[in-house]
Amino acid sequence: MPLGTVRELLLAGLGRARRSPHRYTWWRIGIGTLFTSLVLALPLSGLFHFDLWRGAHTVAGETVDFTTAAKRFAFPFLGINVLILLATRFLGRYLCGFVCPVGSLARLFDWARSNRRHAGLARAACASVALLLGYAVLAFWCDVRVLVEGTPLARALAAGAWLALSGGLYWLCARIGLAFCQRWCPSGVYFAVLAHEGPTGIELAHPQACTDCGACDSVCPMDLEPRRLAQAAPREERGWYGEGFSNASLCIRCGDCVQVCEGVNARTRAELLQPVALRMGFLRTQDVTADQERERA
Ligand code: SF4
Ligand code: SF4
Repeated sequence: MPLGTVRELLLAGLGRARRSPHRYTWWRIGIGTLFTSLVLALPLSGLFHFDLWRGAHTVAGETVDFTTAAKRFAFPFLGINVLILLATRFLGRYLCGFVCPVGSLARLFDWARSNRRHAGLARAACASVALLLGYAVLAFWCDVRVLVEGTPLARALAAGAWLALSGGLYWLCARIGLAFCQRWCPSGVYFAVLAHEGPTGIELAHPQACTDCGACDSVCPMDLEPRRLAQAAPREERGWYGEGFSNASLCIRCGDCVQVCEGVNARTRAELLQPVALRMGFLRTQDVTADQERERA
């Protein structure tokens, strides 16, 4: 069964059972909106963009040559990358789980596939997001006025680049989806090398609440066993991931396992107040010990 089928059914079932989206979905929507707005605002506000069309590269409203623009961009770019590196090194791959636009769009496709009543609308939403992200990349490298004011050749090249980017992203997220994160994403491999067993992650916080339903295993987009991240050996064959990656470095901290665990454990308002087996966040040593004792029993 291809990755996604059981996962989509479970998440779609939970979605129908809930009155509003899960808090992780709200976080993803908020972070995704903020990220896309920033990525669009940077070039469109005139703060920074290259211009491969007319060579009018812009930094803080000033027009400069390419070398100057690249030099001024290098410092904040490196600073952001150092921050990302440190955050991933010490906290894990939350960037993959909550910020990555490919992951977010792949999830939107998951939702579109399970939303048969509004399938056309759902696919239109996916296409719009792909076009918006492609537009953001185009705007970073080129003054978008080229689409209107450029020569026919310049317009065709800019529109072609935009459509190729958006179409490629649409195809990747629609056809490969989160299996791309599991096996082929080069950034994911880089983040997995950086990540290690840090202070945060997924843990079986309340083993007594676990009903052994296996739903968490079924929804994990990285094909892990969320209940046994610390104990189970990672699977060996995994696309670009070689052997030697720990489960903690493979976990993208998406929270799908926690979401589904909360869903299967809490069907009524009163049950929502009961402890849920899985949790995501800072690890509590005593709970991990309890988990290990349960495993031994
Ligand atoms: S989803 Fe929760 S209750 Fe079900 S097996 Fe996983 S940890 Fe246990
Ligand atoms: S273990 Fe949980 S948080 Fe980690 S990748 Fe799997 S579903 Fe996401």
